[in-house]
Amino acid sequence: MQWIDSAADRAGLELPPRLLPFTDQPLALFVDIDGTLVDFVRRPQDVRLDPDLLGLLSRLQHLLDGAVAVLSGRELSDVDRLLSPLKLPAGALHGLQTRDALGRVRSLLPPPAWATRIARECEEVAGSLPGVWLERKAKVSFALHYRDAPSQGAAVLGAAARIAASSAGRYRLQAGNCVAELKPAGADKGDALQSLLAMPPFRGRAPLVLGDDLTDEPAFSMAEQLGGVGVIVGQRRPTAARHALTSPKHTGRWLAALATRLEQGHTRQ
Ligand SMILES: [Mg+2]
Repeated sequence: MQWIDSAADRAGLELPPRLLPFTDQPLALFVDIDGTLVDFVRRPQDVRLDPDLLGLLSRLQHLLDGAVAVLSGRELSDVDRLLSPLKLPAGALHGLQTRDALGRVRSLLPPPAWATRIARECEEVAGSLPGVWLERKAKVSFALHYRDAPSQGAAVLGAAARIAASSAGRYRLQAGNCVAELKPAGADKGDALQSLLAMPPFRGRAPLVLGDDLTDEPAFSMAEQLGGVGVIVGQRRPTAARHALTSPKHTGRWLAALATRLEQGHTRQ
């Protein structure tokens, strides 16, 4: 594992040359939000993005000819609220909702009756375990959070696994950072990456994926398959990512260094 944040520090925030062995191919940037661009907070709805960070994403979008997308577990409307006024292509709800560069939205939603049933079962879990609370995402995906009660982790994961097992393959358990999410089967962040990369302005570019969570692993693997790389943020291991950054603070600094490097490249052309 190469700790590119320390290399970047030593080089005065120069982009470590080893990170981009494929610079002869233009890049496409795919970035997660929570735990990658910003630190976790107790409740996801309290997260705010720094205006400087939004400005940086906008700058990168310009420098990469529009090839910047968000891959998030949040729903699309929530992604847009956080990134406002930016409205980026996205794989939201871990890939269940995608929006391409033309603004076309595609959703893979389960039958409503199943969503209702899973919601009810998750409510029962949250109601029976103190400190655990339920987040509903677009009425189809249900996240049981136990950040306030880490000792409930095993109980939450066990209950969530039972709910998934009884859903006849319609729902699956996605374990994350202090969260167990019941999400409809059928798409992950890797699928979202693949579908976005098949279309302009991403097509023909090497995907660079920044993420922190288990939910980012399919995107790291897909990036490798498609000629790119993954960069994990934080200490979680093992991972399919080839590079690492220590924290969201380092992500911001590294992205700024990337933007500077891309600007220099533009200047030379
Ligand atoms: Mg994350």
